Amino acid sequence: MKFNLPAYATNYFSTTVWIKCPKCGEKALVTSQPTNAVIPLTNNAEAHCTSCSFKTIERNWSGYYQGFINLSCGYCGTRITHCTKPIKEIYAKENVTCTSCHKKRAYGLLWAPYKSNTATDPFFGYDLWLQIEVKNNILWGYNKEHLTYIRTYIEATLREDNSRHKYSLIANLPQWMVLAKNRDSIVKKIDKLISLV
Ligand SMILES: [Zn+2]
Ligand SMILES: [Zn+2]
Repeated sequence: MKFNLPAYATNYFSTTVWIKCPKCGEKALVTSQPTNAVIPLTNNAEAHCTSCSFKTIERNWSGYYQGFINLSCGYCGTRITHCTKPIKEIYAKENVTCTSCHKKRAYGLLWAPYKSNTATDPFFGYDLWLQIEVKNNILWGYNKEHLTYIRTYIEATLREDNSRHKYSLIANLPQWMVLAKNRDSIVKKIDKLISLV
């Protein structure tokens, strides 16, 4: 079976994103206007929950952050560059060892929202409703259409993606998702997620 759907970016599916309500924990929705941008640029996204009164357009990022250090070594002046893993709880400093003089010191971190490949919505950073563990990895999707698209790709045995856009969703799927040996279990998990909405 051949995969011949268009090469969409993840953002293509971001007009309707099922989330876990940050207030009551029930299934809630983030909606936004359609855009052709690869990354979410719209400022008209809204989160709302029908189970409680929660509703917001305030774009205070609730998702993951990545910390960066780009400074000179306090001992020898060599440029020190470092980045943290994506995390939710930020902190002020991290110990980094200089690659030149090998002395360790705590350096201040600058934090930026981390939006790629995490199980959060791209506008507010709320946890996705549609996420499930597969062999110590998290499989996630914004909505039924998004998951169906991924499912079609996973199920396809013939994948012609050499000439596709580098920002396309399928070109950026993690390795564990595209391995043939994981195909059946992933398709089952996707079907389970789709049944939740
Ligand atoms: Zn709620
Ligand atoms: Zn140094």
